[in-house]
Amino acid sequence: MNLETLNCNSCGAPLEVATSANFVTCQHCSTQLAVRRTETAAFTEELEQLAEQVRDLIREGKIADLDRCWERNKQRYLTTERDGSKSVPSEAKAVAWAVVMIVAVLAWTTAAVAMGAKEFLWVGLVSLVIALYRGIDGYLRAKNYRTAHRRYLRRRAQMDFGLG
Ligand SMILES: [Zn+2]
Repeated sequence: MNLETLNCNSCGAPLEVATSANFVTCQHCSTQLAVRRTETAAFTEELEQLAEQVRDLIREGKIADLDRCWERNKQRYLTTERDGSKSVPSEAKAVAWAVVMIVAVLAWTTAAVAMGAKEFLWVGLVSLVIALYRGIDGYLRAKNYRTAHRRYLRRRAQMDFGLG
């Protein structure tokens, strides 16, 4: 059996290790060590540290999964702008849009009816209902987006602290 002399990565004590060994327990401090060999060197690493690294890798993988999932999920809530770009919906914008539309429709309908075009009353009413519906729809979408975004951020924070 060939022996090589390595140092304990925890306490620094010299260790006689068989060249075929992958694991060794330090006789001085009882730390469990993994023997790592490269082409040019051999050294020891604490098993606890290795386990820690593996746990970190798993956590990073889970966070990356969560991020990907959110990126996909988020598309459902985004508003498509006229130029084709997507934007995060906003409750304030939805309400402001509805108010502007309703005021415009009311002004337009009132003017038309005042000029004697009574049939425009119906067009005005239908336009009002559409403006109201679109306003509420936009508002709810923005609200749902914010709820989903908060949930995602909370889960991500939990994972960052190693709780998730
Ligand atoms: Zn040791």
